[in-house]
Amino acid sequence: MIPAPFDYEVADSVEHAVELLGEREDTKLLAGGHSLIPLMRLRFARPAVLVDLGRLDSLRYVRDAGEQVAIGALTRHHDLNHDPLLQEHCPLVSHTAGLIGDPQVRHRGTIGGSIAHGDPASDLPAVLVALDAELLLQGPNGERTLPAGEFFRGVFETALGPQDVLTEIRVPKLGPSGWSYLKFTRRAQDWATVGVAAVVRRSNGTIEDTAIALTNMGATPVRARTAEEALRTADDVGTAAEAVAAESDPPSDTSGSADYRRHLATVLAQRALEEAISR
Ligand code: FAD
Repeated sequence: MIPAPFDYEVADSVEHAVELLGEREDTKLLAGGHSLIPLMRLRFARPAVLVDLGRLDSLRYVRDAGEQVAIGALTRHHDLNHDPLLQEHCPLVSHTAGLIGDPQVRHRGTIGGSIAHGDPASDLPAVLVALDAELLLQGPNGERTLPAGEFFRGVFETALGPQDVLTEIRVPKLGPSGWSYLKFTRRAQDWATVGVAAVVRRSNGTIEDTAIALTNMGATPVRARTAEEALRTADDVGTAAEAVAAESDPPSDTSGSADYRRHLATVLAQRALEEAISR
């Protein structure tokens, strides 16, 4: 289908984008267009104005930021997947970006668009929640930082205000921590029916800290706190994986029933924790 008519503006800076967002109601930002344009073609979204961020090359970067790696919101999935700094310090992000869609999607879609869209089936949101990433937002009153865990509010709902632009994502350097992201798809290169992100910090054979977050097991990425606490040694993997299913409220849809998703989450959590511990 063809989208409903809309006006088109090009932002020449983040400040300009914020200003344009405030000029007319129902104005939407356009990044890679790989979530918004399909919705517009189906007429599920009918923005009056599109503000194109695509020429803001200043928002396309991966930088060393001390104990964190800073990622510009317009960085494309393909570039995350191949970035040497991320591969060295936060391979969970580069690995997951390589699992998104097909090459065309990865060459157009951006990390900022994936997060701002607020789709519970997207892969990067759960990964960022597991990493306790920080998100930098710029609005009419300046900049603010939010933990990823507080950003997602519901299906396609986030903490972004009507004039906010997501500008940067900061992820921690993982050091020797083990990590994994596993997703189950019905077809190759598809969205996750269920995904599990895991980060495990060990010292002298003891597990010191675990983070587990789930994709498509609720309206937002789900942090599996009970399962995290259950993982004290490598022998607890089965118990922790069982706990994952109990602390989520998955949907039933054409990709699978809620019960099937709980089963998948347990199986994937077991494998993800084993992989993270062995890395
Ligand atoms: P856009 O479509 O341009 O924007 C999406 C939303 O975010 C819009 O509401 C827009 O206004 C808002 N927005 C964009 N940038 C900003 C910003 N900087 N600040 C504030 N708001 C902003 N995703 C997965 O995770 N896993 C998959 O397996 C997967 N498979 C896909 C397969 C296909 C065929 C397609 C078409 C998409 C797939 N996607 C998948 C989605 C893909 O990753 C999208 O690119 C991504 O979700 C949106 O990024 P975008 O840059 O295209 O954003």
